[in-house]
Amino acid sequence: MTHRVGLESNAHRSAAPFPEVAEPLVRRVQTTITSWFSSAARDLPWREADTSAWAVLVSEIMSQQTPVARVEPRWREWMEAWPTPADLAAAPTADVLHRWGRLGYPRRALRLQEAARVIAEDLDNVVPTTVEELERLPGIGSYTAAAVASFAHGRRTTVLDTNVRRVLVRLFAGRERPTASPGRKETDWAARFVPEDDHVRWNAGVMEFGALICTARSPDCAACPLRDICTWYRLGRPASATKPKIQKWTGTDRQLRGAIMDVLKTAHAADARPAGVRVDLFTTSVTELDPEFVEELDEPTAAAVARVRELSADRERIARLISDLVADGLAGKVDGRLALPS
Ligand code: SF4
Repeated sequence: MTHRVGLESNAHRSAAPFPEVAEPLVRRVQTTITSWFSSAARDLPWREADTSAWAVLVSEIMSQQTPVARVEPRWREWMEAWPTPADLAAAPTADVLHRWGRLGYPRRALRLQEAARVIAEDLDNVVPTTVEELERLPGIGSYTAAAVASFAHGRRTTVLDTNVRRVLVRLFAGRERPTASPGRKETDWAARFVPEDDHVRWNAGVMEFGALICTARSPDCAACPLRDICTWYRLGRPASATKPKIQKWTGTDRQLRGAIMDVLKTAHAADARPAGVRVDLFTTSVTELDPEFVEELDEPTAAAVARVRELSADRERIARLISDLVADGLAGKVDGRLALPS
C-alpha cells in the first residue's frame, strides 16, 4: 500500500517510513525552508561568496562531530596557515595535529592531509567538482562529497546529514529521529525534496533548520514555520522506542587517548628538544621513575603528563593506548620517546 502525505494528511495515524509526498507539499517545504534560511542563516565564514572549494572542504571535515562554534576559530587558523591543498600537503604532520587542537577525532586531520596530498600531487591542486571524484579522496564519504559538490561548486546533490534526516522523518514519517545511518531507500526519498533550482540554498537551509529549530533534543515547534504540516508534531511528538546511544566520555579510552595527545601537542608547542616526552613518564610508577625524566619537562607539559596519570593508574592500559596511537599514525616512538609524528 502506498502512503501518501498531502496537505490534508490525517493527523493521527503514523506514516510509512518514507512516504510518497504530494508535489504541492514538497514545494511548500522547499520554499519555507529556503526563505527561512535567507533570514536566519548563521553568519559562518565558509559561507562567504569568495570562499575557496578547499576551504569549504576543510570546514566540512572539521564540522563532522564537532560543534560549529569550536570549529570556526580553528578553521580560520588553518586557512591562514594552509590556504591551499598544496600548503597542507607540505606541512609537517606534527604541526597539522597540533593545529587540530581539541576538535576531537584527530584521525580526521591525518586523512585531510592525505586528501590534500592527492589533490596537490595528482589533481593540480584543484578540488574535484563531482561527488564521484570527491568520494575517491581519502577520508571523504558520501555526505562530505555531496556537501562539497553542492556548497563549493553549486552542483545539485542530496546532502544528507543527521540534521536533514531528522527534519524529513519528523515532517513526513512522524518519527522522532532517523535510523543510525541512511540506506539507499532513504537517500532516494530525500533526493525528491531537492529543488531543481535553488538546490544549494535548500541543502544548506534544511541542514541549518535541523541544527537551529528542529533540533534533536528540544525542537522549537512553537516557532516552526512548518508546524501546520508536521506529522510528528500532529501525532503529539511520540518518543522513539529506542533511545539514542549517548556517547560516554569520562573514563573512556577516548578521553585517555586525548589526554596523551595533549601531552604530545603541549611538548610540540614548547619545541621540546629532543622532540616529545619519554614513554616511561606514562608507563612507569612514580616511585620507579627517574626524577630527571620529570625535570626535563617544561611546566605545561608536566601538567599534561600529570593529567594522564590522574585519569588512569593502569600502566598496561596506557601502554596499549600509546601503541594504538602509534599504529594510527597519530604519534611516533623513537629512542624511548613519544612525539607527534614528524
Ligand atoms: S514542528 Fe517541530 S518537529 Fe516538526 S519540523 Fe517543526 S520543529 Fe521539527
